[in-house]
Amino acid sequence: MEKIVIVGGVAGGMSAATRLRRLKEAAEIIVFEKGPFVSFANCGLPYAISGEIEERDALLVQTPEALKKRFNLDVRPLHEVLAIDPQEKTVTVKNGEQIFTESYDALILSPGAKPLVSAIKGLEEATNAFSLRNVPDLDQIMAHLEDKKPQKATIIGAGFIGLEVAENLHKKGLEVTILEKAPHVLPPLDEEMAAYIKNELIKQGVKVLTSQSATAFEKAGQEIVLEDGTVLASDVTILSVGVQPETDLAKRAGIQLGHRGYPGR
Ligand SMILES: Cc1cc2nc3c(=O)[nH]c(=O)nc-3n(C[C@H](O)[C@H](O)[C@H](O)COP(=O)(O)OP(=O)(O)OC[C@H]3O[C@@H](n4cnc5c(N)ncnc54)[C@H](O)[C@@H]3O)c2cc1C
Repeated sequence: MEKIVIVGGVAGGMSAATRLRRLKEAAEIIVFEKGPFVSFANCGLPYAISGEIEERDALLVQTPEALKKRFNLDVRPLHEVLAIDPQEKTVTVKNGEQIFTESYDALILSPGAKPLVSAIKGLEEATNAFSLRNVPDLDQIMAHLEDKKPQKATIIGAGFIGLEVAENLHKKGLEVTILEKAPHVLPPLDEEMAAYIKNELIKQGVKVLTSQSATAFEKAGQEIVLEDGTVLASDVTILSVGVQPETDLAKRAGIQLGHRGYPGR
């Protein structure tokens, strides 16, 4: 029986798994996901902050049990693939304390991208700074909002996710400042288009600082020092400054991506 292993159980990995099941009824399909949840709705995460998405569980679109029942998929959360041996066609997997090897006939890598963490001085000590990629990140932000009842929020990075988080923290009643290094919000847009968005943000009471970047966090993140020396008070800060590759798994295994990843094919 053909055995297919998939690394990553969110949008890419789970779509590949369900599509493969339709194409290959008999194949054994195993999905390894290092996080606690698979197939969750990342796009809804910012809207859970304000309560627009009322139930956290509404973000959890599928469970391993439902995927087993409906598609006969072997979906394993909390399983991290540590290494690939493309010659032996095996992956090394970590689940808690246990490390084991799983063989495969075909391997699909869908490990995604993680938030870029800027080298801003004092970030490590900033206990009120978060990024938002997954449900555990959301849980941390919600716990901070609940415990500390912050009033002032700063969003660093006015891309799509930054603006969505800004919208939802504002909706939750926080005083929101957006900080963007580029000359306008939503840098992929033309300035003329972005101006409409900036005007709307200001109209809603959101403070927008463009051509400005954070250079340091002070007082455990309660103060953000900007390039021009201005100091912003911030009770909660969300960093949303882009993404970077999640892992160098493929590179370490000598797999050239963009080509079929199997030596000899
Ligand atoms: C807050 C937020 C809002 C978004 N809103 C939108 C939107 O409105 N519209 C839109 O089109 N897109 C949106 N996106 C982007 C969209 O969610 C991503 O493009 C999509 O999730 C990418 O899917 P993926 O499977 O490639 O990667 P990911 O979703 O990153 O999933 C990869 C998974 O692989 C796992 N993994 C990584 N390495 C390993 C390993 N070694 N072993 C096991 N598992 C591993 C990771 O834990 C992760 O769960 C949003 C993203 C976020 C974070």
